[in-house]
Amino acid sequence: MLGLALHTKTYVCLHVFDGRMPVMLVTRPDGDWCALCGDDHPDDAGQYRVVGLGHVIQQDPTLADVLDLAAGEEAEREIVGGPWTRSTF
Ligand SMILES: [Zn+2]
Repeated sequence: MLGLALHTKTYVCLHVFDGRMPVMLVTRPDGDWCALCGDDHPDDAGQYRVVGLGHVIQQDPTLADVLDLAAGEEAEREIVGGPWTRSTF
């Protein structure tokens, strides 16, 4: 998978961490990987957890489609398994 290590640090919101929401937004601010549910979150580090990228992909293999995102890019989808809409910010 593009040479990315399975232990690459990835931020997930608590919703994703707890399995309450699927990942609907993958974004790379400052080059970090963030896998989020797509809802708004308070700007508070307590709303996020750090996991390994491999863990996130294991939970949802469809995320492998967007592992070519570069820093400053993001990809969003409406439904799990649906097409990703990519953008740059
Ligand atoms: Zn969330």
